Amino acid sequence: MLGRGVRTGLAILGSTGSIGQSTLNVIRRQPRFRVVALTANGSAAALHTQVAEFRPAYHALARTAGVGCLLEAATHPEADIVVNAVVGAVGLEATLAALEAGKRVALANKESLVTAGELVLAAAQRGGGEIIPIDSEHSAVLQCLAGGRAPLTRLTLTASGGPFRTWATDRVAEATVEQALNHPTWAMGRKITVDSATLANKALEVIEAHHLFGLGYEAVEVVVHPQSIIHALCGFADGSVLAQLGFPTMELPILYALTYPERLPDEGVRRFDPVAAGPLTFEPVRHDAFPTFGLGVAAGRAGGTAPAVFNAANEVAVEAFLAGRITFGRIPAVIDATLAKHRPCPASTLEAVRGADQWARITAAALC
Ligand code: MG
Repeated sequence: MLGRGVRTGLAILGSTGSIGQSTLNVIRRQPRFRVVALTANGSAAALHTQVAEFRPAYHALARTAGVGCLLEAATHPEADIVVNAVVGAVGLEATLAALEAGKRVALANKESLVTAGELVLAAAQRGGGEIIPIDSEHSAVLQCLAGGRAPLTRLTLTASGGPFRTWATDRVAEATVEQALNHPTWAMGRKITVDSATLANKALEVIEAHHLFGLGYEAVEVVVHPQSIIHALCGFADGSVLAQLGFPTMELPILYALTYPERLPDEGVRRFDPVAAGPLTFEPVRHDAFPTFGLGVAAGRAGGTAPAVFNAANEVAVEAFLAGRITFGRIPAVIDATLAKHRPCPASTLEAVRGADQWARITAAALC
């Protein structure tokens, strides 16, 4: 069991989104935690309902209060854990502020580590905060490493393969919005669902894993595993491999991020049943059908501001696709052309990261 009075105050940034709602589901079953701050982007009615139920000391709507409210929630004196479930690059500053203030950041915002990995790790070191990933794959790694003293030498992240896993390459390029939003195993927000269909999401996760677990890119690989039962495979020096398994639900990694390194009983999560899980299969990534994946990993390897440019160009291209302005096949083309025009520089300041992000958004938008 967790120690008394330890890490119970929660600030949830992005509380009305998919991860925010799942976090509140977990909290309803775990009365040990108190919600002290809630922020949402624009869903005023949904936030109002949450405030009435959880009575946080602080709440704000970013669309009207401005992004400053994210920093206020992230550094709230009663918050021990900051769940950063904000979508997009705007989540970075909240991550930095929370870490500087010595908080645990339960991190779902991918952009924090992808666009500014070095800055985020430096902020944690300076402020004494810690990053515990919520993403199912990175949570799986953390769970496999818990209690062990042997360093991770090789990491395999699993990918569902998305809705177009078995489609012919030329058919993938013509996929519609409706088809891209029809994910086979995970229920998630629109942006991340499209990122799963292009495998951009998996490239972002490779970059995050590089920062979180201190592995070189050559030690991180991805395998397609359509059942989404195994979330990561951790390899050690002697060739042994540990895997973490579970039916796909974000509630398990969310609870683990709140209680790490302990575990709390949770009756709300479906018990694992290997027979019900059925046969587990694995396939290589099809780079011809999903070129966005390779572009993202290459940007990670290039380092500096390149991952921020990849992330921003992808965000702009996905928005344009969802709005019907470009085809699915144009998403990697827009990202590739944006990266080709970019001269990477060190991502050692927030200004450098912001500058690269802005430049990439303008460049990618012109290409759409
Ligand atoms: Mg994931």
